[in-house]
Amino acid sequence: MRITGGKCNICGENRTLDVAHIIPKLENRKTRRLEPTDNLLGLCPTHHRLFDEDKLTDEEFSKIEEKVRKAGEIYA
Ligand SMILES: [Zn+2]
Repeated sequence: MRITGGKCNICGENRTLDVAHIIPKLENRKTRRLEPTDNLLGLCPTHHRLFDEDKLTDEEFSKIEEKVRKAGEIYA
C-alpha cells in the first residue's frame, strides 16, 4: 500500500500488514483535521496491537515517532 510503504513501519514485516490509525478513526472523523496520509501507519498485527496498547519499546517507538508527533501536532 502506497501510504504505508507496504511493510510494517517498525519491523519491516510485509506478509501481513494492518493499516493503523494514529488518531483513532472516529475521533478524526468528528473534526477531519488530519488527511489520511498523515494519520496512517503500516504495522504488522503484533506491532499494531502493541501500538494501540501503548506497549512499544522506546526503540520500536522511535521508528514511528516522527510521524506520530506530526499527527499529534496537526490534530492538537
Ligand atoms: Zn512489525
